[in-house]
Amino acid sequence: MKTIRDINFKNVKALIRVDFNVPLNEKFEVTDDTRIRAAIPTIRKVLNDGGSAILMSHLGRPKGGFDQKYSLKHVLPALQASLPNTVIHFAADCIGPQAEEAAAALKPGEVLLLENLRFHVEEEKGDTLFSQQLASLGNFYINDAFGTAHRRHASTAVIAEFFKDRKALGFLMAEEVKNIGRVLENIERPYVAIIGGAKVSSKINILKNLVDKVDHFIIGGGMVFTFIKAQGGQVGNSLVENEMLEDAQNILELCVKHGVKFHLPVDSVCSDKFGEDGIIKVMDTHQIESGFMGLDIGPKAIEQFRQVILSAKTILWNGPMGVFEMETFQKGTQMIGIAIADATEKGAFSLVGGGDSVAAVNKFNLATSISYVSTGGGAMLEFMEGIKLPGIAAIES
Ligand code: AMP
Repeated sequence: MKTIRDINFKNVKALIRVDFNVPLNEKFEVTDDTRIRAAIPTIRKVLNDGGSAILMSHLGRPKGGFDQKYSLKHVLPALQASLPNTVIHFAADCIGPQAEEAAAALKPGEVLLLENLRFHVEEEKGDTLFSQQLASLGNFYINDAFGTAHRRHASTAVIAEFFKDRKALGFLMAEEVKNIGRVLENIERPYVAIIGGAKVSSKINILKNLVDKVDHFIIGGGMVFTFIKAQGGQVGNSLVENEMLEDAQNILELCVKHGVKFHLPVDSVCSDKFGEDGIIKVMDTHQIESGFMGLDIGPKAIEQFRQVILSAKTILWNGPMGVFEMETFQKGTQMIGIAIADATEKGAFSLVGGGDSVAAVNKFNLATSISYVSTGGGAMLEFMEGIKLPGIAAIES
């Protein structure tokens, strides 16, 4: 894998695609600078070598054209705080004369932040001319934005065509690729993949891609009930995707074929309402009473899953076990997170990825007890589905 570790950036103007798509409050202040801080090691490497860094990113979802709400100018104070004593310039457009002049005047050790790439609709279209205009600003390309690596946009993939062998993955991207690689190849066994979340349809390709790799699947969340129905169980009012019953059946058959143990929760915390003010009962997951829906895994399931997790040497977790946003239905997700933390302490490698599971890990303060927490939602999911991400492929080609 080509990374920046062994490259000397002296007098190089490195164009770095970063992910500064950070949350802002109503005063346009950055409320969580995690993504900015995550890009600093790569920026510092370039600057410390005696090069300069031209940073490009998107912010939010502008409709095309300038919109001050989404200006990257808002992230300048947070970026400066992460890079004290560094001169940081800002160009009010990411291409054209302003960007070109600012890039040309950039001195070694300095940083130039370009305005939001998505003020040009050409960015998301992967337009070649726009990519070439961006490429002309620097003489080396680094992609360090894992969150957009699954998109074939101008700044994430197409631009790489203009840099032949003068391109590499940044430290953050390289870490993602290395860690996600540990749950896809050269796996230490037993390997337990815990897949939860609302729907089977959004996780089916991950299940298919992992079925010949894992030893155990643990299934939680709303997707449980499509499998239960496919097995002939009674699901009451629980979330079911009837159009996925055949796919669910296929997964069950593939698990038998590959000798994978498929664990569904033996019991579930159920309610007669999708809310916290209904009648709450624990029921056998195969026999949910009519009028009730399963909204979390039950106490027996927590113990059942915990034992499997503690036996693992490799653990992947994507998707919550229940409606963890509501206190009444958060225990399953929390306890599974704790079991993963305990297995990690015993020596297992654990990786958590995908928006809601990362939110859950943070909610229960477990992030530091997990081996690796992936920063990419959609990108991580597509990687797990076995798709070659355009942002990575463009560096490798
Ligand atoms: P996903 O984005 O597919 O990972 O799904 C996450 C969402 O699934 C969360 O917002 C949860 O509230 C929801 N969820 C988890 N368990 C259930 C359930 N048993 N029934 C309905 N929704 C659920």
